[in-house]
Amino acid sequence: MEEKIALLQKFINESHRIVFFGGAGVSTESGVPDFRSKDGLYNQHDVRFEDYSPEYLLSHDCLVDNPKVFFEYYRQKMDARNVKPNAAHNYLVELERQGKLIGIVTQNIDGLHQKAGSKKVFELHGSTERNYCMRCRKVFEPDAIFDSKEAVPHCDCGGIIRCDVTLYGEGLPVDDVEGAIEAISSADMMIIGGTSLRVYPAASFINYFHGKHLVVINKEHLNCYLRPGQDLEINGKIGEIFSKLK
Ligand code: NAD
Repeated sequence: MEEKIALLQKFINESHRIVFFGGAGVSTESGVPDFRSKDGLYNQHDVRFEDYSPEYLLSHDCLVDNPKVFFEYYRQKMDARNVKPNAAHNYLVELERQGKLIGIVTQNIDGLHQKAGSKKVFELHGSTERNYCMRCRKVFEPDAIFDSKEAVPHCDCGGIIRCDVTLYGEGLPVDDVEGAIEAISSADMMIIGGTSLRVYPAASFINYFHGKHLVVINKEHLNCYLRPGQDLEINGKIGEIFSKLK
């Protein structure tokens, strides 16, 4: 492990345009469950929601056809208002400050990279931090959903207030997708961290990378093509690994 971390440090020292591509595993050390780990959302059994799949509960169809269930699940599982960034988020802030990191491409919706202080963040799946009325487009703080007394939160105009999160069945935000592809395709190093690479199309964006070093950091082994002699996989907790770097 120490040797691998030393090699990661060497790659970082040699690189000038690093892009980070991350997922839910980046926030687990802040206490936010991911989807597919042993204690992730997909493995939590909750009688209130056992008739539905997690994909359905976070889908456009559920929001439209079954809004009470959608908002009950969303309030229960997606409230990140009091969560603090961890060492993984903080190290990426430092890399950006050093002028080495050109962007973070995240599948996360918790806003923790921005809370930590990162500036260039491409959110492929939106954010629970932003919310709007589906009818008049008025913008709301997260409290408007999480603290609402209504089962389905409404705007004064009568429209439903929803999160600006890409639900299953919805398209990805165009500006973030373009920014992500631009950053990945112009990077000389990419660090993939805390993602199972199982959610598409987001996971397919890593194919735009043609730089020198690809590093995968994940708790468990991922089937990701690594080029012998120039790429690296480290299996461990990303916050713990990043806190050993300069
Ligand atoms: P995932 O749950 O499919 O995979 C997470 C991966 O991270 C797993 O392979 C797991 O082994 C690994 N992991 C967990 N903790 C880790 C740690 N401390 N260090 C290193 N690796 C760790 O998540 P995904 O790939 O991001 O895709 C699923 C979807 O989950 C995304 O679309 C995202 O929007 C959504 N999601 C987001 C959040 C969040 O915003 N924090 C939380 C749950 C789910």
